Amino acid sequence: MLFCCKKHKSASKVAYSILYGSDMKMAKQELSIYIDGTFYPKSEAKVSVYDHGLLYGDGVFEGIKAYEGIVFKLKEHIDRLYTSAHSIMLNIPISRKEMIQAVVDTLKKNKLKDSYIRLVVTRGTGDLGLDPRKCPKATIIIITEPAIVLHSKDKIERGITAMITWVKRDPVDATSHEVKSLNYLNSILAKIESNAGGVDEAICLDKTGFVSEGVAENIFIVKDGIVVTPPTSTGALRGITRTAVIKLVEKLGHPMIERNVTPNELFTADEVFFTGTAAEVTPVREINKRMIGEGKPGPVTRRLVEEFHKLVRNPKEGTLIK
Ligand code: PMP
Repeated sequence: MLFCCKKHKSASKVAYSILYGSDMKMAKQELSIYIDGTFYPKSEAKVSVYDHGLLYGDGVFEGIKAYEGIVFKLKEHIDRLYTSAHSIMLNIPISRKEMIQAVVDTLKKNKLKDSYIRLVVTRGTGDLGLDPRKCPKATIIIITEPAIVLHSKDKIERGITAMITWVKRDPVDATSHEVKSLNYLNSILAKIESNAGGVDEAICLDKTGFVSEGVAENIFIVKDGIVVTPPTSTGALRGITRTAVIKLVEKLGHPMIERNVTPNELFTADEVFFTGTAAEVTPVREINKRMIGEGKPGPVTRRLVEEFHKLVRNPKEGTLIK
């Protein structure tokens, strides 16, 4: 069974009445979730337990953000979604243009102008075997929530703490993070380590010992005015924020180099920062108990935080919700 049956629908109506009294208007304010072209209230948005996204992590996704009515780099996110799908031979049953419209329609339906958007395409419903040929049609899910904050304003102002973890980034000849697939156990294991270590974020090395990326962020260092970020051959995702920040760095007149970075270079950098859709530009003040630079966000990072905030609100950089 793919979606909720009538019995469940009426059961959830009862649950609403209990939660909100008899005022069903409250229930109407529930967020709508897009599944395969239909909107469902959040509490009723369900996919099959036979969906291979759940059973095997077989699928692709995007995390996207909207600021003041502009979906930042929506076209770029959609392009990456279809590229990821191509790589794993997953056929998305609607066009890129239709997908863009579906994201905009979901935001409009939920009256959201500032939002974190999660777009998921799974292999679809199959049997208990892993063979994707048993899944005739991909499942498309669009969730739009009010904008999320990954780190508090105070943390961003002071810089966050991080640690290099023993969890190596999946290599490019394995479940490569160059593909934004539903396989995130590698990142989750790293996150568990940073949680246990009592720091804000984890940094993964590649299997040769060079720095790769954070759990869901790319990483940059600044040394003597030069900005450096590791290449995607370390298994890092080609982040959309990463690309935008590389352009900002160049616009601000700093030399920008993409090359391998060693753990020692991280510890001795003047500045370190993460980039990502949810992370935006996040300064790092400490790594494995080593103070980075002066132990607070440095001038290049601070300028990039400022410029990035302007960029995401520039209508030319995104798609208008209209
Ligand atoms: N690396 C990984 C593993 C990620 O999941 C993300 C988040 N999408 C990033 C980097 C940052 O990418 P983006 O700037 O496109 O959000």
